[in-house]
Amino acid sequence: MTARIVLVEDEVILRLDVKSLLEDAGYDVVGEAGNGEKAIELAYKLKPDLIIMDIKMPKLNGLKASQIITASQNIPILMLTAYSQREFIAKAKQKNIVGYLVKPVSEANLIPAVEVALSQASYVRECESKIVALNGKLQSRKVVERAKGILMKEKSWDEDRAYQKMRTISMNNQISLEKVAKTIIKKYESQKQVN
Ligand SMILES: [Mg+2]
Repeated sequence: MTARIVLVEDEVILRLDVKSLLEDAGYDVVGEAGNGEKAIELAYKLKPDLIIMDIKMPKLNGLKASQIITASQNIPILMLTAYSQREFIAKAKQKNIVGYLVKPVSEANLIPAVEVALSQASYVRECESKIVALNGKLQSRKVVERAKGILMKEKSWDEDRAYQKMRTISMNNQISLEKVAKTIIKKYESQKQVN
């Protein structure tokens, strides 16, 4: 799938240059802006795969704009900077800024930086979804442990027996162990309320 890029640069000639370099490399430049405010608007509206953004711009500078975008959206941002801004940049570490490209921009430095930014962003997304899956597994294990504890206490069963019972219910009814556990917990809690 072609990566969708929003390009933010106040120098029009430079913006056109960068745009044609990107398009020649096969990227889709879906939006362009010349200041930070417009960049925020486009980020919301277009939800691109990557934003390439100049730092020094009128109205709202690139670092402030990227801060605002990052606060509510997870879009990787590649900053364009002048050589003289290097120190400034070191202080302005932000989670979604995936790279800095020092001007002048050429095909030789732009395209590899975009490639790295995009692959890094997809790696981060992959990690995030793994974390979500792991959290889910952990939650489900906690629920199963809790239900097992209830059975052990209520029926005076040992751990193995409680677990085997839950597995049997799960297999016989073709429902997940987690669902069995939740049913046991729910039943136990409603009984507790009655008593
Ligand atoms: Mg500028």
